[in-house]
Amino acid sequence: TLGTLGVFYYYAQKDKSPGEQLPHDPSKKTLVVLGSGWGATSLLNSMDTTDYNVIVISPKNYFLFTPLLPSVAVGTLSPRSILQPTRYVTRHKKRQVAVIEASATSVDPIAKTVKFEDTSEIQGLVSTTTVNYDYLVFAVGAEVQTFNIPGVKENACFMKELEDAEHMQRRFLDCLETAAFPGQTPDEISRLLHMVVVGGGPTGVEVSGELHDFLEEDLRSWYPELASNVRITLVEALPSVLPMFSKQLIDYTESTFKEAKIDILTKTMVKEIKEKSVVLQMPDKSVVEVPCGLVVWAAGNKLRKVTQDLMAKFPQAQTNRRGITVDDHLRMVGVPDKSIFAIGDCTATSYAPTAQVASQEGAYLARIIAQLAKRDELAARLKALQETPAVEETKQEIESVQKQITKAEKMRPFHYSHQGSLAYIGSDKAIADLPFFNGNLATGGVATYLFWRSAYLSTLFSPRNRVLVANDWIKVKLFGR
Ligand code: NAD
Repeated sequence: TLGTLGVFYYYAQKDKSPGEQLPHDPSKKTLVVLGSGWGATSLLNSMDTTDYNVIVISPKNYFLFTPLLPSVAVGTLSPRSILQPTRYVTRHKKRQVAVIEASATSVDPIAKTVKFEDTSEIQGLVSTTTVNYDYLVFAVGAEVQTFNIPGVKENACFMKELEDAEHMQRRFLDCLETAAFPGQTPDEISRLLHMVVVGGGPTGVEVSGELHDFLEEDLRSWYPELASNVRITLVEALPSVLPMFSKQLIDYTESTFKEAKIDILTKTMVKEIKEKSVVLQMPDKSVVEVPCGLVVWAAGNKLRKVTQDLMAKFPQAQTNRRGITVDDHLRMVGVPDKSIFAIGDCTATSYAPTAQVASQEGAYLARIIAQLAKRDELAARLKALQETPAVEETKQEIESVQKQITKAEKMRPFHYSHQGSLAYIGSDKAIADLPFFNGNLATGGVATYLFWRSAYLSTLFSPRNRVLVANDWIKVKLFGR
């Protein structure tokens, strides 16, 4: 044990003090990365920054492990455990990477500039500025889709950013404490303890599952007088939840929810969210108003304005309303000098907009960008050779460099390799759609629970996050939330 601890301590110390980094070099090209989510972080993790001056611009100076966000919302995990500062990755790079906490507001693909503004609450002197790029990686993700349904923004909690999970946690605990306040009427208690989750995609299902666990594992002992009044309702407009999973897994989820007493209302549309109720259009088109204390909005995502504006600059080539169209090498279609790459949820590809896709795209792009640096270096050498007097050796060298350029320009297209989908459905059960099982695997109990946990632990980017998350899980098992 002491030996293991020693090795662990050694690596932790090494990790804390990385070696000297090369400064930015004016002779190198500038690569601007917009975003710090799955795509951008995977790119930064994999890329060699020696060849470029890299600038990362993102409103958050950290990467958020979104699959575990619902666990933060119910207090199983602490917020710090699932975030990884972007500088944690960049400080280990060979050449310095500039990380700027700001929101990109527009891209000028002709002048090759990005305009961005300060997002911090403390306003400095400079609040808006512009940076030039040679290559741009557009990885800004998406934002919550509200479909302009009245009251969503004002009265519902989202489940996209860290603040959303913290907001939901506060709101949920407020509902409990207010329900416990002496003298509350039974109707008011019943309203406050009715939690409505809108959207039967993976996010909505996981939030419902986590809420149920919190209720079963902790609330029953902390608020025994209230626990039997807590109700969870999942509302989905389509005929079933989790349409991306197989029928067998959908049935499994539905029966697990039934046992857990989570009501699923399918073919039901949320039409409005009021302060103390949701207005539902039922399958028979009748409209009912249901009192509730908390509404979690997990009804999908849409493009950000900065993405829509960029697409509008190429009206002929960018016609897909779902997102940016890219070619086989993830370059934005229509950009004359092919200097913009787009990855992740801001793109429209044949793959679902998932973390797994974005992260594979980021890793692929790291290779493409390295290849481009090589090509650009060879092109510069060719230019210099062509400008020197043409002796026989120079001609031979020109030929050889030209061959190398042709080779460097041959880039393998992006290929997504699906490793499976996993969703936690509460009650220590997870569903898994794993390609290597040649079909679907639906299991519950200890095995899946451990599988889900180990899969998430191994995907967490840094050892720091693995330790923090594992520690939180153990803490909850021993002492509760
Ligand atoms: P989603 O788009 O997959 O699901 C949203 C659901 O909300 C849809 O089924 C839609 O029909 C429903 N909806 C929309 N408006 C509604 C309304 N007014 N009333 C009732 N229902 C309404 O969104 P998501 O779950 O956030 O997932 C987004 C993406 O992220 C997906 O690609 C998903 O696969 C991925 N994801 C995967 C996992 C996982 O694999 N564990 C977890 C989270 C997200």
